[in-house]
Amino acid sequence: MKLLLVEDEPELAHSIASFLEQVGFRVEQAPEFAQAMEKIALYNYDCLLVDLGLPDGNGLDIIRALRKQESATGVLVISARNAVDDRITGLNLGADDYLSKPFHLAELNARVQAILRRRQFGGKAAIRFAEICVHTAERQVFAGNQVLELTRKEYDLLLFFLANKYRVVTREAIAEHLLGDDADQMDDFNFIYSHVKNLRKKLATGGAGDYVQAVYGIGYKFTDQV
Ligand code: CA
Repeated sequence: MKLLLVEDEPELAHSIASFLEQVGFRVEQAPEFAQAMEKIALYNYDCLLVDLGLPDGNGLDIIRALRKQESATGVLVISARNAVDDRITGLNLGADDYLSKPFHLAELNARVQAILRRRQFGGKAAIRFAEICVHTAERQVFAGNQVLELTRKEYDLLLFFLANKYRVVTREAIAEHLLGDDADQMDDFNFIYSHVKNLRKKLATGGAGDYVQAVYGIGYKFTDQV
């Protein structure tokens, strides 16, 4: 799962990013308004963490711009402002939740996880697809009763497939999701091929069916339909 952290206080941004990376997220950062606007125009994120008071703009305008794109990206407002007005405006603009500073990083993580569950997986704590079951809080993957040992990239790839099941996902989108925003400098997608191959192998070893269809020249589709 890829997040964009928009926070101008360097120390806070650093501690949030390292905590969330430790629990398995990929975290991109934009300490300034202009940078955040550029990034949401260029890249896709699963969730934005937005501070409202930025040196060169207002975080509310980032939410506004994101919602104008009709993107499914989740939004968590993190702000020192306790003003009810900001909270209401943020929520009205389409933010999913609001967390006032100071907060505990564990609570921040729990709220981001809850937003992602609601937005991508219908609010369920366990994501099921045929005999595959993923417990996102524990990052555990089962095929039937068997626990699968996936690498971080394989896990991210599986979750990306599950969030986009029955849809074609391009190699470019997978690269951006797995490697982060720098992936657009890449011209060789072989690494995706090997992650897909390893994921398929592990799912098969666990007794799961093969749901990864290659879409020639474009990418993949995760489906149980022929
Ligand atoms: Ca700030």
